[in-house]
Amino acid sequence: MLENLLTIDVEDWFHILDAPRSDTAKIPWDTLPSRVVANTERILAILDNHGVTATFFVLGWVAKHHPSLIRRIAECGHDIASHGYGHILVNRVSPSTFEADLIRSLGTIGNAVGRAVIGYRASGFSVTPNTPWAFPILAKHGIQYDASIFPAVHAHGGFPNAPKCPFLLQTTCGHKLYEFPASVVRLFGRSLPIGGGGYLRLLPTPVIHGAIRYLNHIGENATIYLHPREIDPLQPRLSGLPFHRRFKYYVNLSGTEHKLNELLSCFRFTSIQRFLEFDDYRRCIAQKRFTVDGTC
Ligand SMILES: [Zn+2]
Repeated sequence: MLENLLTIDVEDWFHILDAPRSDTAKIPWDTLPSRVVANTERILAILDNHGVTATFFVLGWVAKHHPSLIRRIAECGHDIASHGYGHILVNRVSPSTFEADLIRSLGTIGNAVGRAVIGYRASGFSVTPNTPWAFPILAKHGIQYDASIFPAVHAHGGFPNAPKCPFLLQTTCGHKLYEFPASVVRLFGRSLPIGGGGYLRLLPTPVIHGAIRYLNHIGENATIYLHPREIDPLQPRLSGLPFHRRFKYYVNLSGTEHKLNELLSCFRFTSIQRFLEFDDYRRCIAQKRFTVDGTC
């Protein structure tokens, strides 16, 4: 059975994108009641029950305020990667602001675990065809694998023409990154995201499982993503979100833990770094190349 990739974006309930200014910009994050430690511990227990390792893309802000949590994730054998520092959207900042946020996250997370960080995922999959400069910056700072691409239209970004399975991303100036896009499947001429977020919580289990089975059948590995807050139905709700965002962020929170257990029972999952340790998998990815223009 083909191995799939399990990824967790470690951030708190108040790090939701689109949070109205009245909730999280005027109120400093560190004055809000944190739930990320308990929720992440719960996910660690679930993964331990299934004997599965995952890649944890950690927000630098979380690593600064909860360094012992990050050490504990690493001690459990999971990958520690970066989700940036301040949850900024890459396509809304300058290259220098992006680079500064990346450097700050790598330093904070690296200090927490005592080793270099080599993986990255942008907030909101906000690396797009309009931000080709992001990839050389990632490579310059030692990033070897990236999971920032959403190969379809997305509210905060999206890279619709990118491959929909793991591939080797090349820049026109010669950088290379192993890329793990969030999983989507083509259905009736449209891209159906099945890899995580509101889609994973909303879509019925047979649809999700059928999509992963289909991807594995055609030789593609699925990449699934989840946030610790998604298994926390009692988390506080941010007020003032537009209806569609409120629906997307809070739909079916009470069912996510069960869905995660079902996924881990029915399919094989591993972390990105463990996946890349296998020569066969690396060779397979290297055969699927995608060059991003305008990077030099
Ligand atoms: Zn995020």
